[in-house]
Amino acid sequence: MSKFHLETLAVHAGQPAKGDPTTNARAVPVYRTTAYNFRDSKHGADLFGLRELGNIYARLMNPTNDVLNARLAALEGGAAALTLSSGTAAIFFTVTNIARAGDEIVAASNLYGGTFSQFDAILPNVGIKVRFAPVNDIAATEALINEKTRLVFVETIGNPALDVADIEAYAALAHRHGLPLVVDSTFTTPALLRPIEHGADIVIHSLSKWIGGHGAGIGGAVVDSGKFDWKDPKFALYNEPDAGYHGLRFAHDLPEPLRPVAFTLRLLTVGIRNQGPTLAPDAAWIFLQGVESLPLRIAKHSANALAVAKHLQSHPKVAWVKYPSLTQPELAAKYLPDGAGGMVVFGVKGGSDEARKFADSLNGEIFSLLANVGDAKSLVIHPASTTHSQLSDEDLRKGGVLPELVRLSIGIEHVDDIVAELDRALDAI
Ligand SMILES: *Cc1c(COP(=O)(O)O)cnc(C)c1O
Repeated sequence: MSKFHLETLAVHAGQPAKGDPTTNARAVPVYRTTAYNFRDSKHGADLFGLRELGNIYARLMNPTNDVLNARLAALEGGAAALTLSSGTAAIFFTVTNIARAGDEIVAASNLYGGTFSQFDAILPNVGIKVRFAPVNDIAATEALINEKTRLVFVETIGNPALDVADIEAYAALAHRHGLPLVVDSTFTTPALLRPIEHGADIVIHSLSKWIGGHGAGIGGAVVDSGKFDWKDPKFALYNEPDAGYHGLRFAHDLPEPLRPVAFTLRLLTVGIRNQGPTLAPDAAWIFLQGVESLPLRIAKHSANALAVAKHLQSHPKVAWVKYPSLTQPELAAKYLPDGAGGMVVFGVKGGSDEARKFADSLNGEIFSLLANVGDAKSLVIHPASTTHSQLSDEDLRKGGVLPELVRLSIGIEHVDDIVAELDRALDAI
């Protein structure tokens, strides 16, 4: 379907207009089954022996999820995609599909809080060391790469300052060292940025945010560009016989047409099959509804957020505002020509108490006070007292989580109503 535009792919990729192949249902059916019948014992034996491809057990294969996988691969311009139980699982199982105990990875330090904790506190427990460098400091990032490094990880737009990553610079750095670049594109979605076009090898999403778009489910996705060559022996998981899958060497033993998606096949057959981070088909169905309107929603999120950021810039009670196309115009023009997304962060004059008072006053009519982003509804949070409250004052400042910082996830309501609510809450402090 790659000849079609993004808006068309968002509606059709993965299930052509003929509908469901077995029932002719036009909407994608939810296949609520745990297992699939064998015609007879020989059929079962052939499926297990990979002499015939087909459904066996729904931990690793489901026709509802298959449509979503194919749609996300098409939207990102990737060779294959898999969906997992959460964005957090997508990140963990991507890292552990490339690195093993004794290996290291290098990451930008401005990560989503949950990802930072996973990298800083959990991966070391499975023997994977993570080294952090400030985002876009390519020299500092390069200085952390050594013979144990297995990947470079960055987010397209990071927390909490909404920094735009220079993906092409990261891709050049990673490839200079024979490493894949893994990009979390949750804040941008394929409607704003397709990291594979800029050199990324693996793209990750939390579907729970803008792709789902309605705050109605948890899920994650991993898109494989199909371009990274895993034959370097340092990628032991691809070059040594894999005890997790019949002794297969994923970089060598796959039939030629499947070799480009060795990463995806290993993620499916070792990560998902034997570690179990499966996306429920009901959740996949929710994300299929969301993704159909993704291009429309993102355009509205971006237009509303830009208008909000500009309005706040001129408000006497606002100390500062961050929005990618206003604060990093050059990187935004290069990577986000169609809009800079739905997130706005700003500082309330007066500090933490005033920021909390503002959030409390805003909460209730249009804006919800909660820990999420990417809903069609507008959301607000005061990170220093909630999502980042476990950090010391010094770490908060170092991480840019200033006490006066308020984070807005701007929804798709009428912009005049959003701005009026913000003004009302600013008046209240
Ligand atoms: C929410 C989020 C995640 C985690 O995704 P879940 O689906 O909540 O597990 C990872 N990265 C970013 C940038 C996110 O916003």
